[in-house]
Amino acid sequence: MQRKDNVKIFGTAILCICMTLISISLVEVLIRRDTEHETALIHDTLLNTGALIGQEIQRNLSYGIVVTETLHALLESNHYQVANFSKWGERLFALDSGASSIQLAPNGVVSYIYPLKGNERALGHDLLLDKRRDDGANLAIQSREITFVGPLKLIQNGKYAVIARKPVFREVDGVDTFWGFTIAILLVEDVLPDRVRQLEKQGLYITLEGENPDSQDPAVLFSSEKWVEGNDVAMTIEVPNGTWTLKLGHDPITNKYYSLGRIFAAFFSITISIYIFVQQCMMSVKQEEISFLNERLMELSLKDELTGVGNRRAGMQALERGIQKSKYMNKTLSVLMLDIDLFKEVNDQHGHPAGDHLLKHSAFCLNASAQRCNSVFRIGGDEFLMHLPEMGLDECMDVADAIQKFVEKMPCEYGGTELPMSFSIGLAEHHPDETINSLLHRVDIKLYEAKKAGRNTIKY
Ligand code: GH3
Ligand code: MG
Repeated sequence: MQRKDNVKIFGTAILCICMTLISISLVEVLIRRDTEHETALIHDTLLNTGALIGQEIQRNLSYGIVVTETLHALLESNHYQVANFSKWGERLFALDSGASSIQLAPNGVVSYIYPLKGNERALGHDLLLDKRRDDGANLAIQSREITFVGPLKLIQNGKYAVIARKPVFREVDGVDTFWGFTIAILLVEDVLPDRVRQLEKQGLYITLEGENPDSQDPAVLFSSEKWVEGNDVAMTIEVPNGTWTLKLGHDPITNKYYSLGRIFAAFFSITISIYIFVQQCMMSVKQEEISFLNERLMELSLKDELTGVGNRRAGMQALERGIQKSKYMNKTLSVLMLDIDLFKEVNDQHGHPAGDHLLKHSAFCLNASAQRCNSVFRIGGDEFLMHLPEMGLDECMDVADAIQKFVEKMPCEYGGTELPMSFSIGLAEHHPDETINSLLHRVDIKLYEAKKAGRNTIKY
């Protein structure tokens, strides 16, 4: 019983732990789903924003073409006289061309710069001789096309810039001769759209990398202060001389409601589980009490309270079972019906408690003297019934005799007085297929005959 209870409690505990884990996992799944959804949304936003930034960068770089072309046109219209270069610069800058400076390099030597202030160190720079820059310059001459160089660090201020160079050719004595370069310097920081700086306020960060001609590692053209790897998307931007890589990242998704949700789910499911566990334990204790009481009740409902032997209901149930068993085993079964002689007189002369005492003594005598008999039942006031399985009438006669002899030897004493006590006994053997009522009726008749024959007699 104890082991069964332990198994039950263990089972309930496992069930409660599983319930707790399932509900905590469920909340975790919901939170993860929400986070994934939010990440997907942010991812889309990053891609869209990146595409816009890429377009703006491409557009800003294309100003390099406009500026170098315009300078070429100005040169042509002024017959390659460069006296008014400052005025050209002023005009171009007034148009907000996007270039940080413009230059003219006749024969590949930088000779005119606007604005000059801050860019003086570039003056006299021979592009065709500078080992770091001559590739781009020669390429431009060969291709006769505008060539973009960079991003590279400017000599004058160390800032990253993209340089657009247009090789200019003019006819000298009927020969197409290289005149020099018109140059637009576009600082990367100017090429970046303004929105890049605003992104940081929205928790989005960018890094822009370009191909670095001087190193294997890419040149970092721009990087948000708070940039961290992870949580980012990368995309390439086609620029005139290659590709740049734009990476957009965002803060890790943290939501204080997630932690609250987790704490609440854990607390709630643990509390519920403990409650269910305690309730289940209490219920199993109650169930045990109930089944114990039921057993007691069953026992009481089949027991004669005064004498402790089985009552009439128990007698009938046992007789039914006995008949079925003997039928199944093809054996006989007999019954004895016993009634105390002149019992009323005992009650009348010695009082009811004395009568009760005599009834208890009778039950004791019957139990003790007929041990082979299955059981003794008190089926009426002073009437008892005994089943004798596997016994014919002759053997029953011996049992009945033994009872009477035993009773004679066991006087019933009460309050110092010997109470008179004897049994009239009727016997009957069960006939095959006979009903209980018929058997009881027959044995009752035999008992009656025994009474009539003068009591303390056996009849069958
Ligand atoms: P007879 O020999 O013909 O059986 O005479 P009798 O006096 O025994 O008559 P009967 O069997 O009819 O009497 C049964 C009496 O048993 C009647 C009733 O007052 C008494 N009685 C029934 N139940 C109890 C009980 O629980 N306690 C006591 N003290 N008396 C009981
Ligand atoms: Mg009687």
